[in-house]
Amino acid sequence: MTSIPGYASMKINVADLRDNASMAISFDETIILPDEYLLTDRVVFLSFAGNICKKNNLYILNLEAKGRLSAECDFCLIQVKQPIVFTVSEIFSGYESDDEDIWVFHGDTIDIFEAVRMNMLLNFPSSFICKAGCKGLCPKCGRNLNEKDCGCQPDPDPRFDILKELRR
Ligand SMILES: [Zn+2]
Ligand SMILES: [Zn+2]
Repeated sequence: MTSIPGYASMKINVADLRDNASMAISFDETIILPDEYLLTDRVVFLSFAGNICKKNNLYILNLEAKGRLSAECDFCLIQVKQPIVFTVSEIFSGYESDDEDIWVFHGDTIDIFEAVRMNMLLNFPSSFICKAGCKGLCPKCGRNLNEKDCGCQPDPDPRFDILKELRR
C-alpha cells in the first residue's frame, strides 16, 4: 500500500479524549495495494468500525475492517470475489516507549495507517479459489474444465521419451 494523502480518515484526533473515555470510530476507506499483489483490482474498499479508548495515557484502538477483494481463481482464472475481514487491536502512546508492541505518535493526532496496513497484510488471503474442487484449465487446450471436459489426452510421461532416445 502506498501512503497517499487520501487516507485522512486514518488520522484520529485524540486531543479531546479524556482518560478512561472512549470514542467511537467508523469510516470507509479505499486502499490501493502495491503492484506485487496480483489482483484483478488492487483498489480495495474497506469499512471500518470500532473505538479508541484512553487508559493511563495509552490509547487502545479496536477496529474491525471488512471488504471484498477481486482476483482470479488460482486454478481456472475466472473472476472471484473474496471477503477480507480483519481486526486492528493496537496500543498507541504519545510518549516514547521501549515496548515494541506500542506505536508512538506525536502531537494530537494518531495516524493509524501503518497499523491498519500491517494487520491487513497479516490477514491477506494466500490463495483465491472459485469453489472447492475447481478443476482448473486443461494444460493442452486451455479450456476451463469446470465447464466441460475437452477430451485432450494427457501428455505421455516425458521419461518415456528419454528411454526412446537411449535405445536409438
Ligand atoms: Zn476456479
Ligand atoms: Zn484440453
